[in-house]
Amino acid sequence: MSAALVVNAVVLRGTGGVWRARDASGDEYDVSLRGRLKQADSVKLAVGDEVQLERDARDGTWAIATILPRRSRLVRRAPGGAYGERVVAANVDQVVVVIAAAHPTPHTRMLDRFLVIAAANDIPARVVVNKVDLAHGDPRLPFAAYAAAGYPVHATSVPNREGFAGLHDALRGRVSALTGPSGVGKSSLLNALYPGLSLRVGEISKSVDKGRHTTVGATMHPLPDGGYVMDTPGLREVGVWNVAPGELDRCFPEWQALRTTCRFRDCRHDEEPGCAVRAAVASGVVDAERYDSYRRLRAELESELPNR
Ligand code: GDP
Ligand code: ZN
Repeated sequence: MSAALVVNAVVLRGTGGVWRARDASGDEYDVSLRGRLKQADSVKLAVGDEVQLERDARDGTWAIATILPRRSRLVRRAPGGAYGERVVAANVDQVVVVIAAAHPTPHTRMLDRFLVIAAANDIPARVVVNKVDLAHGDPRLPFAAYAAAGYPVHATSVPNREGFAGLHDALRGRVSALTGPSGVGKSSLLNALYPGLSLRVGEISKSVDKGRHTTVGATMHPLPDGGYVMDTPGLREVGVWNVAPGELDRCFPEWQALRTTCRFRDCRHDEEPGCAVRAAVASGVVDAERYDSYRRLRAELESELPNR
């Protein structure tokens, strides 16, 4: 291990107490926060944080001395109806939502939910349609609305190694929060892309979850050619994300030009007269399924608002 007294590292996993961090050469450290950082509760450490580790000259132990500024944060509401927010992960460069063309049948409501989470946190997102070998007809067709909205859409197949080069390029050197329903092939994809990685996405989190009966944090898996794939079990929970109902329409990128042309500035795009979004749905310019997702998510957000 390094003889230096200060080392830059990335937090791979941990929940309070002891954290696992990894330096640029791949060495890993079990570390806790230096006392003075523990007291400063302004910034709570999160998985994905870039930190500086300091070695104690006397006993040689390492500790987290500095949390470096964050590029991004994935935030959710504090659990149990409490006020405030919780940082699920820091420095996520992109959210990658994996869905299957078939087996299991794709649910675009779930896809929309994850894309809204990404947008609400100002994090770019991309869609991976896996198992295209099982699709009837053009597997991209059911996801045309997403490509039109500006999301990169990858069509992949593990047995045929289809779409691998594009996905590999998209993951290289970045921190990607990988999410999607179980059984769509997230682990299979990663293991086929990175032979020897032997990843079981969701596995670690599940076993920890059983023992503690609490929501567990994210886990970062280093990729052999740079970058990380982050497993974010917290993202899979229903209705835990952090967006005000009036902000929801901003999370649908394909409506950006439209939503400002509604008659009312605070248009909910529901029953209001002169709603440009609803008119665009009626004329087929805006995808009706995406609009339906918006309405459901909006109703959900409004019902979850405290004191309303
Ligand atoms: P995860 O829960 O998202 O990690 O999904 P898994 O990687 O465990 O895959 C679930 C099942 O789908 C496994 O039986 C895989 O062999 C299968 N599978 C994964 N990718 C593909 C694919 O592209 N095509 C087909 N036909 N099966 C796949
Ligand atoms: Zn409107």
